[in-house]
Amino acid sequence: MKIMVSACLSGENCKYNGGNNRNEKVLHLMTENEVITVCPEQMGGLPTPRVPAEIVDGVVTAKDGRIVDAEFRAGAEKCLEIARREKPDLIVLQSRSPSCGVRQRYDGTFAGKLVNGAGITAQLLMEEGFRVVDVEDI
Ligand code: SF4
Repeated sequence: MKIMVSACLSGENCKYNGGNNRNEKVLHLMTENEVITVCPEQMGGLPTPRVPAEIVDGVVTAKDGRIVDAEFRAGAEKCLEIARREKPDLIVLQSRSPSCGVRQRYDGTFAGKLVNGAGITAQLLMEEGFRVVDVEDI
């Protein structure tokens, strides 16, 4: 099986704070399947570490007020290009991220509150018909 995963789940230090979300289940999947890792925020041109961002009234905005919507959407488009080319059977993404969140994301107030809804990349990939799951659901 071919699987696309959020790069931070594989242990790559691409998270906004320079860390990762290393996940043992994902590492196990990587031993048995062909895995493609993607980090849409880095692929959209954002540095690591970077200021955390949330979707505020539909626009991705960093905590310092800078609009980073174009970068987030560019990264999502690059992930979509890769997915179209590689045709993964499954896409496993990190929970609650404004890019990768599948079921929930932060509500745009930077107060740690969650709302139902996907991040920019997860939404795009689901709209295109890919099988996308939250890492907490594998
Ligand atoms: S954009 Fe996705 S892959 Fe990159 S650090 Fe955030 S959750 Fe992980």
